[in-house]
Amino acid sequence: MDSLRVLELYSGIGGMHYSLKQSGISAHVVAAIDINTTANQVYRHNFPDTPLWNRTIEGISLDDFNNLHFDMILMSPPCQPFTRVGLQRGLDDPRTKSFLYILNLLPRLSQLPRYILLENVKGFETSSARQSLVEMLTTCGYTFQEVMVSPTRFGIPNSRLRYYLMAKISTESISSKSKDSQISLLPAETESPVEPSLSSPLQPVSCRTKEEEMKDGVFYKLETRTDAQRKMTQNQDLSVSRIEDFLEARHNVDMDQYLVPSEVLLRYALILDIVKPSCRRSICFTKGYGRYVEGTGSVLQCCLETEIESVFKNLDQFSEEEKLQQLQRLKLRYFTPREVANIMGFPKSFSFPEQIPTKQRYRLLGNSLNVVVVARLLQQLTFNL
Ligand code: SAH
Repeated sequence: MDSLRVLELYSGIGGMHYSLKQSGISAHVVAAIDINTTANQVYRHNFPDTPLWNRTIEGISLDDFNNLHFDMILMSPPCQPFTRVGLQRGLDDPRTKSFLYILNLLPRLSQLPRYILLENVKGFETSSARQSLVEMLTTCGYTFQEVMVSPTRFGIPNSRLRYYLMAKISTESISSKSKDSQISLLPAETESPVEPSLSSPLQPVSCRTKEEEMKDGVFYKLETRTDAQRKMTQNQDLSVSRIEDFLEARHNVDMDQYLVPSEVLLRYALILDIVKPSCRRSICFTKGYGRYVEGTGSVLQCCLETEIESVFKNLDQFSEEEKLQQLQRLKLRYFTPREVANIMGFPKSFSFPEQIPTKQRYRLLGNSLNVVVVARLLQQLTFNL
């Protein structure tokens, strides 16, 4: 079997390329396309031999695409138009333009690719962009499967619930086979809200007052009973690895550089998602990690002798200075970009060019994907190869 020719659209730092390598499929990327020059620096650093086009997708002609003779498309269209917090403008959003261009171009290719894999955020499944995609696939004779899956399903202690669509061109041989020999369906992820709902510091979700919650000694921070229980259940799930398996060796980390700064501790301590190395959970690392606090990713408790409950108990009764002293006992730090990359399944061989600043690294990783998850989906997609 010849090596599959793969087109990687919206390639970013190459999450799809790593997934393809990890899947073990015999394939090579014939072109990777992205307009973000920083992402492209990282891509080129890691895949110097892959043709990388620093161009807007909608500026590329049908002829140029035809000349690539690709068998597979891997793509993560920009997700802002589809996120729940976004304006939900969907197809009207200018950022969707390139995606519509692809949908329009695909049926006109001289040869349709055999496989398509698309990754997107939760919320895409109800978007009009998804509707247009499905119509195009159906018209062109693809069979497809949509799944919502989080890395926890594959034993990785991180929530990152994402939408995936895997499409395969229908051929006589596939449609005449029994259902059993087709790609087995991954059921939609049913786990409870994977991106935990963080209660705002001003409005705790629980209807009990904070004082009431504190009284029974179970609650601390602004966590609801459900939040606390979900975290406990996640930490007890032995099918998921511990965070410690993804950490850098202590002597490799300049701790001070990654410590959560005092201003952040004082202002946001109650909404930080704190995990220990022994935990089997963490929240999704987003592009704002290290800059914004709420819901952007977990922080690591490095001093394990300190009981988190003892720090948060009665915290509001202390002066600012005492509060800070209390919080600093936990030695909270951000995960390093390398550790975030480890959690997201990037191999050891992946690295950033030295000149890329830490915040940019978080940003690029936050836009990327979980390599292990996509590698598994690619194996499913090409199962009958
Ligand atoms: N899967 C990638 C990340 C995708 S994020 C990874 O592993 O890193 C979406 C990417 O689409 C961004 O890098 C952004 O620069 C790129 N992009 C957005 N609009 C584009 C367009 N019109 N043409 C080319 N690239 C585009």
